[in-house]
Amino acid sequence: MKFDSILVHAGLEPDPTTKAVAPGFAPSTIFEFPEGGIKNTRFGYARNDNPNRQSLEVALARLEDGAEAAAFGSGMAAIQAVIQALGKGGHVLAPIDVYHGTRNLMNDFVEHWGLQVDYVNMTDLASVALAVNASTRLIWLETPSNPMLHITDIAAVCKIARTKGVPVCVDNTWPSPMLQQPLKMGVDLVMHSTTKYLGGHSDILGGAVVGSRDSVLFERVRRIQQMAGAVPSPFDCWLLLRSMRTLGVRVRQQCHNAHIIANWLNEHPLVETVFYPGLTSHPGHSIAASQMKLFGAMLSFTLRLPPEKVIKVVCNSQMIVHATSLGSVESLWEHRRSSEGPESKTPPTLVRLSVGIEDVDDIINDIDLSLKSVAESH
Ligand code: PLP
Repeated sequence: MKFDSILVHAGLEPDPTTKAVAPGFAPSTIFEFPEGGIKNTRFGYARNDNPNRQSLEVALARLEDGAEAAAFGSGMAAIQAVIQALGKGGHVLAPIDVYHGTRNLMNDFVEHWGLQVDYVNMTDLASVALAVNASTRLIWLETPSNPMLHITDIAAVCKIARTKGVPVCVDNTWPSPMLQQPLKMGVDLVMHSTTKYLGGHSDILGGAVVGSRDSVLFERVRRIQQMAGAVPSPFDCWLLLRSMRTLGVRVRQQCHNAHIIANWLNEHPLVETVFYPGLTSHPGHSIAASQMKLFGAMLSFTLRLPPEKVIKVVCNSQMIVHATSLGSVESLWEHRRSSEGPESKTPPTLVRLSVGIEDVDDIINDIDLSLKSVAESH
């Protein structure tokens, strides 16, 4: 099956008893032991596994072309499980531009677990090779990165990592498996905030880790999932699986819109720089073209306005929702530095836009009117 067909069918089988086509929802936390038995062969206790989570994990593993997936209650819980799976000692390489929650987790907690973190420009392969040492336990990648859209050559980093025996984990939240499948490029683990494109409707919080066929780390992630218990509810698993079936049509429309908007912004006199890998001027354009199916639906841009006016621009939209997060059917934008807080390294005039599935003319019109009203005000 091709990807769009896998999306529609993965993890979904008609109920063997009722023949219901849409999957059932099993909220039960416990499952009766088989007659005469003292241990359930399939499900026993919902923290360890349950029918809805199992269907979701089967689907996630298939979408990423992995061996197995572990679902979590949030993207952050998934990241924490990967880091905890590394054990004590050694060091982790992370990108200089990375989701601020990942950076905060690394800075605030990882060192308490006896690990040291170094931030590297992952777009510069020579720097990556230099930064790996005998005690490196993991290379963490995020491409396109949040919020500056740096593009890392996944296969090239994997090649460096392999010669040193270091596993690589990619946060694949922004592209989603629809656009990028890092396990096929040699990565050991893929991590997702399923809150974003996979959920797609701003109504599910979730995370996932998918392991490659030979990942040793994944088994530890699974144990942490089951023992530490940061797991999604059966309802969230059910809803997420339902949402994932439309990932293809949603993301295709979002990418189509984003490309048009990026080109339009690029010509706008108030826009200083557009960060979007689909633009041929983007430094990561050719790598993105080779490892992504489309260029994504996230973009950032800086404005030729003082920061306080940039904040007014995002407050002024009529249709684009002024909120953080991304990947939903509705367009969202924000003054990213304000969302990230005092430790932010994001330029103060940067707007981050998550492009939705609305009519692209309406999105452009909304941006245009928001810019005009602020530019004309004193
Ligand atoms: N990774 C990326 C790239 C994100 O953008 C986010 C959230 O915005 C996360 C991880 C964290 O996911 P969650 O909010 O589901 O915990």
